This record gives sequence, C-alpha cells and structure tokens, in this order.
Amino acid sequence: MSFVEFPESIITCRNLVGGEWLEPVGAMSLEVRSPYTGALIGRVPLTSASGVAQAVEAAKPGAAQWRATSLRERTQHLLRFRALLEAQAGRLAHLAAAEAGKTVAEARAGILKGLEVCDFALSLQNLDSGGHMEVSRGVTCEFRREPLGIVAGVTPFNFPAMVPMWLFPIAVTLGNAFILKPSEKVPLTACALGELMVEAGYPAGVFSVVHGGREAVDALVVHPDVQALAFVGSSSVARHLYSEGGKRGKRVLALGSAKNHLIVVPDADPSLTPQAVVDSFTGCAGQRCMAASVLLAVGEVQPLVDDIVQRAARLELGPGMGALIDRGAVDRLETAIARAREEGARVLLDGRGRRPAGEAWAGGNWLGPTILDGVSPEMEAARRELFGPVLSIIRVPTLSAALAVENASPYGNAASVFTTNGAVAQAVVEGARAGMVGVNVGVPVPREPFSFGGTGDSKFGHGDVTGPSSLDFWTQLKKVTRKWTARTDGSWMS
Ligand code: NAD
Repeated sequence: MSFVEFPESIITCRNLVGGEWLEPVGAMSLEVRSPYTGALIGRVPLTSASGVAQAVEAAKPGAAQWRATSLRERTQHLLRFRALLEAQAGRLAHLAAAEAGKTVAEARAGILKGLEVCDFALSLQNLDSGGHMEVSRGVTCEFRREPLGIVAGVTPFNFPAMVPMWLFPIAVTLGNAFILKPSEKVPLTACALGELMVEAGYPAGVFSVVHGGREAVDALVVHPDVQALAFVGSSSVARHLYSEGGKRGKRVLALGSAKNHLIVVPDADPSLTPQAVVDSFTGCAGQRCMAASVLLAVGEVQPLVDDIVQRAARLELGPGMGALIDRGAVDRLETAIARAREEGARVLLDGRGRRPAGEAWAGGNWLGPTILDGVSPEMEAARRELFGPVLSIIRVPTLSAALAVENASPYGNAASVFTTNGAVAQAVVEGARAGMVGVNVGVPVPREPFSFGGTGDSKFGHGDVTGPSSLDFWTQLKKVTRKWTARTDGSWMS
C-alpha cells in the first residue's frame, strides 16, 4: 500500500540464549506497534534478572571456545554475516522502518553504516597485528590483545540496526561473546540480526539477544561475569550505568543524549546550506543524536532562514519524513512547542496536527517539521534535548556569541558551521565543545575508521565505541617479556 512494508504477521520475539530462541520463563510482554499506523506488529518479552543470568550462563561455553579461535578464523564468520546482511538489507530496512517509524531510505542507510563497521572489523587482522620489539639484546617485549570474555551492548530505539552494529561486529571479532539488549520499542530488527548471526555459523552463545527494559539492563551491569558494557541512549541512563559499572570495576562506555548546534553565518553558501539544515533537523524525524536542534543565526542571514522554512514546509510526511516513536513523544514535543511560544518564541512553521493524507496513517505518531524563532539560550527549547523535528533559532550578533551558546551546553555530540570562509570554519573547529564537528555538513557523522562519539553529557567513559580506540575497549592488553638466553647486553633490568 505504501512506502513502507509491514511484517505480514505479528512477530513474537524470543531471546537468543546459548544458540536457541527461547521464551523467557514467566516474563511479561509488551506490544510493539508501528509508529506509522499504530498497528500491532510484534510482542516483546521483558526478561527478568534471572533470565539475564540464564543467558550469561548459556554464553559461557561458547565464550570459552570463541576466545581460543584466531582473529583470522573469527574474521571468516564476520565475512559470512556481512554477506548475509548485504543480501537481506532490503528486508531489514523495511522491518526497521516499520518498527521505528523511519523512512525506508533512512533505515537502509543505518544498515549500510553497519556494513561499514563490519568492514572496519574485517580490517582488524591487518590493522592490529599486536606489537613486538627486541628491547634489549636477547630480550623481547610483545603486546597481546586478549578478549575480555562476555560483554554486553544496550541500545536505543532510534537506530534498530545501526547502533547494535556499532558494537557487536567489533566486539565479537575481537574474541568476545556479546549479549545484545535492544530497545524494547524496536526488538524485531534485533531478532533479525540474531537470525543472521546464527546463519553465519557463529558458535552457540557467541551472540545472544536478551529482550527487556530496565530490569534486564540493571541485571547486565551488575552481573559479575559481564566484563564490559556499551550503552547508547539517554544521558540519565548513561550516567547511571557508567557509575554502577564503575563501582564494580567494569568497563563502561555510555553514549548519551545530545543538543546539536548548527552555526550559519552570512557568507554561507545558499546553494547547500538551507537543504543541509532541513535534512539535519528533519532526518529520522529529528530522532537521532546527530540531528540539528539549535540554529545559531549569526548576523544577517534572513534569506537563508526564509529558504529553510520554505523547504521544511514542503516536506511530505510519510515518504519524506517518518513518524515519531510513540504517542508520548508527540505529546512531549507538542507541549515543548506550546511552552516555547509562551516563553516568547515565534512559531515560523508549526508541525502540530500534520499527518500524511489517508486513513491508513490516522493512528500514527505524527508531527510535521517545526521551526521556532527568537528562542533565547535560557528557554527550554534551547537547552533540553527535544528529540523530534523541531529547530530552535537563536539570533546572535557574532561568531563568538554563537560559540559561547554552543560551549554552554552540557552536551557535546555535534556542531557544524556553514560558511565559505576558511578562517570562520577553523574558529569553529577549534572552538566548539562538541566531539564531532562539521564544516558545511549538517550531520557530521565520521566514516570509519574515524570513530563516533561526543563529549560532556553525550558520552561517559574514555575512547569511542567504533574506530581504533574500540580495540582498547573490547580487549585486554597483555604485555609479554621474553628471554631465551643468558646472553643479554647486561643492561636489562633483571
Ligand atoms: P533510553 O535511554 O530510554 O533507552 C536506551 C536503552 O536503555 C533501551 O534499551 C532501554 O530499554 C534502556 N533503558 C531505558 N531506561 C532505563 C533505565 N532507567 N535503566 C536501565 N536501562 C534503561 O533511550 P531511547 O529513548 O531509546 O533513545 C533516545 C536517546 O538516545 C536520546 O537521548 C538520544 O540522543 C540518545 N542516543 C544517543 C546516541 C549517541 O551516540 N550519543 C545515539 C543514539 C541515541
């Protein structure tokens, strides 16, 4: 009927435990409804702490077997998974779109990013051959990377395929057994990824899926046999897990919320800036941690602002911009828009009440692109992550005033500048607080091997979940010093 295909029947999710798809005993379940229509498309169990413990126990034999394999052998499994993923990309994109409310093109882009991370993980055998050196005559030192054992990833609703694939292709290729706890709002794609991992021939227990919510996550972070946890989601949960894991001596890398700023100066290129701004704040209906949220309009940029408003107004809901995850998100955003108005902002474009034509979409969670002007840095719309297609324009007189607003945010995921002047661009590259900075790019997501990750309240922990530093997160470095002969040069410490 449409631009997105829904599953033919209601999918009942099970946990992937020790290589078997099992219903967790006695677990309550939640309904999964498509954000596009409100139709029931699946059911997901809420695994208890004992269900999590069962999954960890079942992963142990596979984890032991897997850590004894060579990196080269593990790479062969990933090659098979990658081929299956590529072949199934179309089906997976429709599934992710149906459960997350993304457009199919956005969902497909998430799978392509997953393939890119697989490519990075496939290169590990060339990238990381360890290190070996004769440090003294007859004495060598060597780095050995060893797997941590059983590790876990907890992921958010907004990228059902991509965010899990930021994590497990690298973690598993480095010899760990990985337990995925996907968002209970988008569990169907996670099951499909689990099926592909099984089909790729990974030993039982190397990849597990445990569905659920808070109880399952809390059980993972306190479990003594879970050595590391990567989290992607909201900052409050990220902070909580970073602290709980840290108390137990675990590695935790926890990516949080965002409030991203785009700086537009008068010399910005009018042929690329307005569309890039619109794509940034409306892509994934604004539900991405890299979405533009605040436009810092420096000086006289009214023609660019007018163009942005016109382009956003023309966006067709449905094929051009997807739906919000649930009714609660629509209510939260509508309240935030009303509140901004009360606080003195002008609504240049109002997305409230908009939805695609046709009764089929009446039960969906819709909000059209919304642009607020005259927002001041103190207003809620300027400070809080709204996580929807709402752009707040703050007018500032100078570039340094723009940077001061960006720097004052507790978050630090992304910031971009639109300019044709290299000195202006350099000032933003150097002066922005954000961990990912763009020049004339609305969504400055780095491509692998340039890693993904912000600063401040957008990330708790050191290193990044992808790129070269992910190796340090997912492995233990062992340092080996060898001497096979008494003939040393005499300067050795022993
Ligand atoms: P969320 O924090 O509500 O949920 C994320 C995961 O944590 C889910 O698996 C959920 O089941 C679990 N969870 C929720 N509440 C919990 C609690 N109290 N204790 C333990 N676990 C809990 O996030 P979401 O709504 O699914 O995703 C949107 C958020 O994620 C936004 O804030 C967005 O900015 C952020 N995000 C950040 C990045 C990044 O790279 N920094 C990427 C994507 C999304």
